[in-house]
Amino acid sequence: MLIVQKYGGTSVGSTERINAVADRVVRTYAAGHSCAVVVSAMGHSTDELLDLAKGVAGDSNSRELDALLATGEQVTTALLAMAIGVRGVRAMSFTGWQAGIATEPMHGAARISEISAASVRELLAQGGIPVIAGFQGIANGHVTTLGRGGSDTTAVAMASTLAADLCEIYTDVDGVYTADPRYVANARKLSVISYEEMLELANLGSQVLHPRAVETAKRQGVHLVVRSSFSDEEGTVIRTMGTMEELRVVTGLASEREVARIALVGMPMGEHHLAAVFSALAAQQVNVDVIVQSVVRDNEVDVSFTVQEADVERAIRTCEGLAQTVAYKQLLHETGLSKISIVGAGMISNPGVAAQMFSALEEAGADVKMVSTSEIKVSCVIGGSHLKAAQESVHRSFELDALT
Ligand code: ADP
Ligand code: ASP
Ligand code: MG
Repeated sequence: MLIVQKYGGTSVGSTERINAVADRVVRTYAAGHSCAVVVSAMGHSTDELLDLAKGVAGDSNSRELDALLATGEQVTTALLAMAIGVRGVRAMSFTGWQAGIATEPMHGAARISEISAASVRELLAQGGIPVIAGFQGIANGHVTTLGRGGSDTTAVAMASTLAADLCEIYTDVDGVYTADPRYVANARKLSVISYEEMLELANLGSQVLHPRAVETAKRQGVHLVVRSSFSDEEGTVIRTMGTMEELRVVTGLASEREVARIALVGMPMGEHHLAAVFSALAAQQVNVDVIVQSVVRDNEVDVSFTVQEADVERAIRTCEGLAQTVAYKQLLHETGLSKISIVGAGMISNPGVAAQMFSALEEAGADVKMVSTSEIKVSCVIGGSHLKAAQESVHRSFELDALT
C-alpha cells in the first residue's frame, strides 16, 4: 500500500516526539508499505513565529508573513528526515515548492491549485520516504500558506495526487469525537463518520480536521483516517455513508468561541441596503457568518449578523461608514458570544431536532440569540458564559455518549 501519514504540531512537538514519529514511520515502511509523510511545525512554533512578526510590524506584510510562517514546517521536515535516516531508511525533506505544490496567488489562506510532485514520486520509486512540509505552497515564485491547520489539506491533496491507498492524520486525540473532548467529558470516539458530516463539523469549529482537507477528500475519494500518534488505538474512518440505517440523527456537536453580533436597526425597506452592507463588509475582508433579517414593520427592517470578535472593530467601522447611504437608526453590537451547532445526516428526515436543541439550551440556562439551519445542522448563537453547560446539556439530550 501507499500511505500518506500526516503528523500535527503536538505529535512533533519535541525531539522525543520526532523520534517516536520516526519509529512509527519506519514501522509502517518495514511492514512493506510505501510511505510519504507530511508534517506541521513543532508544537506552538507557528504562534511563536506570529508573535515575532508582531514584534517588528503591527500589521505585517502578508508576503513576508507567509515566508516566515513557512519556516516552521521546514524545521520539522529536516529533523524528521534525519531521524528516519539514522534508523537506516532513506528519507528526504521537501519544502512545498520542492514538492511541486502550487497554490492560488494569495497569502494567508491560499488554495492548492496543482501538485506536480515529480521529485516526491521519484524518491518513492527508489524506495525512499519523502517528508513534506505541510501548510505551504508557491504561487508565481512567492511562498504562500494555506490558513491555520492547513497541513491536513496538504496531506489529503498529496494523497490524491499520488493516488495513495490511505491518508492517515495523526494527532493528539485518537479520532473524531462526538464533541471536543477537551471541553465535554463524556464525548465519545466515533469509529466512522461521513464526509458530509465531517465537513460540516470542521466548518462549524471542530479543529480536528481542516475543512478544505475534508472537502478535498470527499471530492477526490481519498480514504481518510484520524488517529493518535501517541497510541495504537484504531482511529475514526471518514467515508461515504449511504443507507438510511447508517445515518444518525445527530452525530456530533461543534462550537465556536469569541463570536460577536452586530445589528443595524431600523433600515428603510426596499432600498437594496442588504447588498450594500454585505458588499462593503466583504470588501474589508470581514467574514460574516450567521445573518438574520427580522420581520418588516412600519416599513423598516432590522438586520443582525455575526463576525469573529477579532473582526468586530473593522465591521463596526465599515457599518459606520455606511451611515449616510444606508440610513439605519441604530448600530448595536455585542461581544463574548459563542456558537454551538449539532450535525447529523439523519436530521433531514427527523422533525423536532431543532426543538429538542432549544429545550436542551433552555435547560442549560442559555438564551438563543440567533439560529441558522441547513439540512444537516442546527446552529445557535448563545452567551459565551453558558457554552460549557450548553455543550453538556445538548450532548446529554441527544444521547451522544451512547454513540460509537
Ligand atoms: P494537530 O496539531 O494534530 O493538527 P489540532 O489541535 O489541529 O491537532 O486538532 C486536534 C484537536 O482538535 C484535539 O486536541 C481536540 O481538542 C480538538 N477537537 C475539536 N473537536 C474535536 C472532535 N469533535 N473530535 C476530536 N477532537 C476535536
Ligand atoms: N503550523 C500550521 C498551524 O499551526 C499549520 C498546521 O499545523 O496544520 O496552523
Ligand atoms: Mg490541526
